Amino acid sequence: MYDINQVRADFPILARQIYGHPLIYLDNAATTQKPRQVVEAMVDEYYNVNANVHRGVHYLSQQATDLHEASRETVRQFIHAKSTNEILFTRGTTESINLLAFSFGEAFIHAGDEIIVSTLEHHSNIVPWQMLCQRKGSVLKVIPMSDDGHLDLEAYEQLLSEKTRLVCCTHVSNVLGTLNPVQDIIRIAHEHDVPVLIDGAQSVPHMPVDVTALDCDFFAFSGHKVYGPTGVGVLYGKENWLDRMPPYQGGGEMIKNVTFEHTTYNTLPYKFEAGTPDYVATHALATALDYLSALGMENVHTHEQELTRYALQRLSKIEGLHIYGHSPNSVISFQVGNIHHLDLGTLLDRLGIAVRTGHHCAEPLMRRLGIEGTVRASFALYNTQKEVDALVEGIQRVAKMFG
Ligand code: PLP
Repeated sequence: MYDINQVRADFPILARQIYGHPLIYLDNAATTQKPRQVVEAMVDEYYNVNANVHRGVHYLSQQATDLHEASRETVRQFIHAKSTNEILFTRGTTESINLLAFSFGEAFIHAGDEIIVSTLEHHSNIVPWQMLCQRKGSVLKVIPMSDDGHLDLEAYEQLLSEKTRLVCCTHVSNVLGTLNPVQDIIRIAHEHDVPVLIDGAQSVPHMPVDVTALDCDFFAFSGHKVYGPTGVGVLYGKENWLDRMPPYQGGGEMIKNVTFEHTTYNTLPYKFEAGTPDYVATHALATALDYLSALGMENVHTHEQELTRYALQRLSKIEGLHIYGHSPNSVISFQVGNIHHLDLGTLLDRLGIAVRTGHHCAEPLMRRLGIEGTVRASFALYNTQKEVDALVEGIQRVAKMFG
C-alpha cells in the first residue's frame, strides 16, 4: 500500500481552503486533480523541448517526437495492447467514440443495421451512435437493466441478431459505479461475430485494465480522468478493424501522398491523427500513467474499494438517504429525503465539499430510475476516510437545516 499523506502532498490543490474549510474533493468522476509530476512535465516540455513533432529534422523536433511516441508506448503498456499501432491519441473519450462512430460507420454501417448500447451509458456513448443511425438509417437498441443498476444479460443476448454490427458498453457506470460484466458482454457479441467498444472513462483511473485479455475490439478513455491533462485521450482499436476503417479527419500527418486529384493515407496509427497532436499533453498523460504504475493499480483499486465500501456503509445509516446502485467502484449516487440534489450540493460546497449534482450526462438512465438527478460523490486514490466522515457530517448538517 502507498503512503496516502505522501501521495496527497503530490497534489498541491488538495491543500486549498474553500470558504474557510479544507477542500474535500469528491468530484473525481468528472475530473481528477493533477500531481505535481504531471504539471512539471508539461512546464518542462514547454520550457525546454517544445517543437512540432514528426516533421522536423532539428534536435528539438526529434526530442519532442521521441517523447510523444514514448507516450504511446507507455499507454500501450498501461492497457496491455499488443502494438502501438492500436493506440490512437484523441482529445478524450468523447472524441474517441465520435471517431469510431464516424469511421466504423462509414465502413460497416448500412440502412437497417443495428447498434446496441446499454441503459447505463454516458451521453458520449449514446449521441454519436444516434447521429450515425440518423445518417445511415440504422437502428439503436438498448440493453435493459435491473432497478439496482445491473444489465440484463439474457435480454442482451436476445437483442443480438444478424443485423447487429456493434455493441457499445461502458466498463463502469459514471452514475451508479456498476462494474459491467464486460468479459461476458464481449464473449457473447463475439459468438455472433459482432465487435465491441468498451467505454473505459471510469475504469482506467480505478483498476488494472488489460484490453488484450478482455478481447474488446475498441476501448476509449480520457487523460483528465486519470490524473493527466485535459484535451487528450485514447482510442484503442484492434489493427484488423482500424486497417479497414477510413480516416476521421483530413489534414497533416494522416497522409502518405497528396495531389489535387488523389490522397493516399498514412499507416496506423497516424491515419487517424490529422493535424498537430497535443504532444505536450500526451507526454503529461504518460507521466500520469507512470505515476499510477509506481503506486500500483492494484493498490489504487484496493484503496478506493475500501473507501467506497466505508462510505456506502456510513451513508446508508443516514436517515432518509437513498443510494442508487450499491457498487464499491469509486462512485456513489444518492438523494436525501426530498432535499433537492442541487440544494444539497450547494450547501455541501459551503462546507468545502465538492460533489456533483444533476443527471451526470446520463439522462436516459435518470429516466429509467424515475428521477431527475442525484448527488454524486466519487473517489480517487488520494481520498481518505476522514473526508468521507466530513461528507457524512456535512449531509447530516444540511439534513438538519431542512428539518
Ligand atoms: N464516458 C463516461 C463513462 C464518462 O464518465 C465520461 C465523462 O464523465 C465520458 C464518457 C466523457 O468523457 P470526456 O468528457 O472526457 O470525453
